[in-house]
Amino acid sequence: MADLGSSFVYQALPVRVVFGAGTLARAREEVERLAISRALVLTTPAQAEHGLAVTRLLGDRAAGAFHGAVMHTPVAVTDTALAAFRELGADGVVAIGGGSTIGLGKAIALRTGAPQLAIPTTYAGSEMTPILGETERGEKTTRRSLDVLPEAVIYDVDLTLGLPVALSGTSGINAIAHAVEALYARDANPIISLVAEQGIAALARALPAIAADPGDRAARNDALYGAWLCGVCLGSVGMALHHKLCHVLGGTFDLPHAETHTVVLPYAVAYNAAAAPDAMVRIARALGAGPAGPGRPDAATALYELAAAVGARRSLAEIGMPAGEPSALDRAADLAVANPYWNPRPIDRAAIRELLERALAGTPPR
Ligand code: NAD
Repeated sequence: MADLGSSFVYQALPVRVVFGAGTLARAREEVERLAISRALVLTTPAQAEHGLAVTRLLGDRAAGAFHGAVMHTPVAVTDTALAAFRELGADGVVAIGGGSTIGLGKAIALRTGAPQLAIPTTYAGSEMTPILGETERGEKTTRRSLDVLPEAVIYDVDLTLGLPVALSGTSGINAIAHAVEALYARDANPIISLVAEQGIAALARALPAIAADPGDRAARNDALYGAWLCGVCLGSVGMALHHKLCHVLGGTFDLPHAETHTVVLPYAVAYNAAAAPDAMVRIARALGAGPAGPGRPDAATALYELAAAVGARRSLAEIGMPAGEPSALDRAADLAVANPYWNPRPIDRAAIRELLERALAGTPPR
């Protein structure tokens, strides 16, 4: 809770949200509300079926579909999608999928001003942020602008029932990472901290249940709700060391997005623990661990245990970082300390290298 007399800035993001089960059926209504007369429907190749389902629902409000979205929003793919957008005479986009597909929708909106309806099917949270990361010739650039924020979002729990168990767990912990860093952000505020705690709690409850039974509808509902809240955190306040490390590791070693977040989070939290004690209490409480003490895990350990509970891999070596190659650790440490994001604990290269060494091996966070 904010101290009496403390001051802060809170800015609400203008997104309309439709949440529930079976809500995909409202896609046409939402497209009409956005005054889109010809929507380009976007998906990855793997989710072309989801795209066809939306296209059918939109009827004559669909201009066509583009099934070529890929990870990291390469500008070359955006150019191809833009050509389709123009050829088909589209005037809006409907992106159905994870962060990769929603990223493509944002990239098109940035270049055309077209309104967007996002229909997320993972827990990554991009639909709630005014952030777009794009890649060109191996370089990633990130911008923040309300021009890329989707105007409307449909969360349909039914679409997440088929999200593979492994991706459900890591995508959910990717979402938790946004809320964790929101709790110790430089521009943290009491509203977003409330949202963060609720988001972590909903996902921490849901993810082990989904790992046990991917068709558990109540758990899927909680997870998607938590993902929404965590996405709001990512879109509203600045991220810190954890996100910087994940960007460096993902970009340098081409590691998978959600799994990288899952491995790194306990170590980043351990690094920041002493510098952000209030946030640690809130994170541990939301994870169901209560205050740290004898027999109770601290926030970092609770996150490490959550990763085990969802069956996730817990070392960078297991997800593709070259092990036994000290130069890889040095390279990652150098990049992580160059242009660092603001962080509650000062960035110390030796300590970051040690953090990375532990994460590479997957030894318990400290
Ligand atoms: P993703 O979008 O790359 O999806 C991973 C794979 O899972 C894809 O093949 C996809 O088609 C498939 N998939 C997604 N939902 C499915 C479902 N319900 N059933 C079956 N298969 C499904 O993965 P992601 O983790 O959601 O997104 C990662 C990307 O999003 C990264 O590029 C990341 O940088 C970006 N991102 C951006 C922001 C932002 O605010 N700009 C936020 C979070 C993530």
